[in-house]
Order: sequence, then C-alpha cells, then structure tokens
Amino acid sequence: MAGSNTRRDFLSHSGALMGAGMLASALPHNAAAATSKGPHDFIIVEGHRDMWELSGRTRLKEAAQHAPITNFVAQRLIDGGVSVCIMPAGGDSLDERDGTEAAFEGSMRVLDLMLSDIDKSAGKVSLIKTRADLPSAPNSGKVQVFLDIEGGACIQANEPEPRFPPERSLALLRQFFRLGVRGLQLTHNGRNQLADGRGIDKMGSKLTQFGVAVIEEMNRLGMMVGVSHLSANGVFHAAEVSKTPIVSTHQNLERFVQSKPLVEITDEEAKAIAKTGGIVGIRYIVNVTTYKQLVDEVEYLAKLIGPEHIGVGWLGHDKANPSNRETEGHFSRTYSGVEAETMSQHWTNFINMLSERGFTDEHIGMLLGGNYMRVWKQILPRA
Ligand SMILES: [Zn+2]
Repeated sequence: MAGSNTRRDFLSHSGALMGAGMLASALPHNAAAATSKGPHDFIIVEGHRDMWELSGRTRLKEAAQHAPITNFVAQRLIDGGVSVCIMPAGGDSLDERDGTEAAFEGSMRVLDLMLSDIDKSAGKVSLIKTRADLPSAPNSGKVQVFLDIEGGACIQANEPEPRFPPERSLALLRQFFRLGVRGLQLTHNGRNQLADGRGIDKMGSKLTQFGVAVIEEMNRLGMMVGVSHLSANGVFHAAEVSKTPIVSTHQNLERFVQSKPLVEITDEEAKAIAKTGGIVGIRYIVNVTTYKQLVDEVEYLAKLIGPEHIGVGWLGHDKANPSNRETEGHFSRTYSGVEAETMSQHWTNFINMLSERGFTDEHIGMLLGGNYMRVWKQILPRA
C-alpha cells in the first residue's frame, strides 16, 4: 500500500531529531504486518526476567530443579529467539530487595545458584561481562545473561552514613562486579542507603551522598545504572550524576498502566532517561496489560523519546514456565491468554503488531535489543 510505504520510509529515516512520534498519527492501524522477520532475525534482549524460581530452591526435591536456568529456562529462551536475558541476581526475597532485610547474604546465595547453574549449562548459557562478549548477530543455540541486581541494599553498610566513608561500602559493589554483575538498580520499591524506592514515596528525595558515590563508581567500573522502581527525584538526580546512559529495564508509563504500588513512571522521567542516551523498557504485567496496550505505549514512547530509547522488559510467562511444582509457589500460574503461548509466539506476535503499526524492521530491531547493544558498547569494559 502506498500509504504504509510512505510511512515506512518516513520511519526509516526518522531519528530522534525528526520526532518519531509524527508517525503514530499517520499510521494505518490494523494493517497487515509487513515484516517477514521473526524473533530469530533480531538480537532480542529480554530486559528483566525475575528468577523467583530461585527462592527456596535448594529445598526442592528434584535435582533438576536446583539448576533452573540449565534445566528449564535456557532452552525456552533459545527457542524463543532471545539472545540476551537481563537477570536480577540480587536479593533472595522481596523483603531483601526492598531493603527491609539484610540483602547482602541473599544476593550472594542467589548469585552462587545462578553462577553454579550457568556452569552446568555446558556453554549454552554464558555471561556478558565485556564489550567483546556482545553478540554481533542473533545468537543461535545459546543465550547470554547480563547479571543485574535489583536494589542497592546489598551493597550498603551496616551503619547508616556518614559513619562509614562511601569508600568502605563501594568495596561490596566492586566485589559484585568481580563476580560478573554488570547492572545495579539503585532501589527496589523500598528505601535504602542509596535512595528512595517509589513504592513508598513516588517523588522521593534526591540520591544520598552514598547513592551518588555508587553511580560514580559504576561509571568507572563499566556498569549499567538501573532506575526501575526508583523515586522520581531519584531518577532526575541519577540522570544528572551519571556520565553514561541510565536505564529502566522494566517499567511502564503511568499514563498507560497504574499498578499497586504505583511503580510506573511519568513522561518527564522517561524524557530524563532518554536524555542520558538510556532506555525505557516496557513490560507485560499478568492480568493488567495486553499486547495492544504495550504496542500503544511503544508508539507513544516513539513519539516522546524516539525508538532508540525503548526496550522490552518482559512479555509474560510462557506456557512452559515452571509451575508451582518447580517454583515453590511464589506466583500462581494462569493458563489463559499470553501465559498459554510459547515464548516464540510472544515475540512473533509482538513483532507483527509493531510492524502493523508501521515500525520498520530497523526500528523493531532497535527496540527489541539493538538499543541495549548501543548502550552496552558505550558502558561495558572493553575486554
Ligand atoms: Zn522490578
């Protein structure tokens, strides 16, 4: 169709300066997907795969369940076309992530489980630690993991500042880096010694002196500064402080989704993140979002901040996701809708819906994973 071709041409030439948003109003909705590409044609980065399966795992009876990545998750990611998965390694429970329980030990336990598990995968799963590890084409037969930590409580000192100089606690940050961790979200929903999580205070305060020191050290080491769940004033402050792009791996816009507690971000925060060169990663939420909503959100964000600043946090549980038998009941499994599909179907559906809205293959590639490649090439250690 001439109309959609015109739009496609426009999209393929629109950068941030032209305002990708102009596309949205002109795009013919409900058009057939124009792309012939599927998930295996793109470098897909799944922005946030919670590994709650790890909580209490060593108490489960079947030995296979003690290595969930190798035995349950990796092959589904590979079959689904996912090249890289960002996995939060920190905190063994929500209380630990929120900073209401000591998070350090839990983080060390979870990291041990994950690294031991990855060792068992015989090369099918490997870590991204340097720029040299980044895929230059979609992975085939293997998946890579980018270790993230959700909540800085695990690197804080036992005593509140200023009893200890920041340098003392930065030692823990550096130790996590040496274990292969390449991202740290400053907070989960609670308050810690770095900053306020938005679960307790949407606007919150600026970062603490220690929070600023953590970002500076992350910049120096080559780590991704994560702002999901961080309060609004924390996001604005982090954007000022960080010399490299800041990223929200899994957060929707408040104008599209309101969950409880309200963890979604405003347009202003999305713009602040994009201004650093960073990424806003939209995500599916069970029983809350539909893919249509997510694609509406991507279209809106493309107008607001440009397709080069969008990522995908998560597209939902797939039907082979371990049920309570393997996960010790952290969430109950539903079998309807998205949860009844395979991971490959998730990504195929999402790609087709983006294409129907007029997103070019180039832009789809950027928001599925290309944007992370750009950011990681900028921030990770060279080798
Ligand atoms: Zn989260």
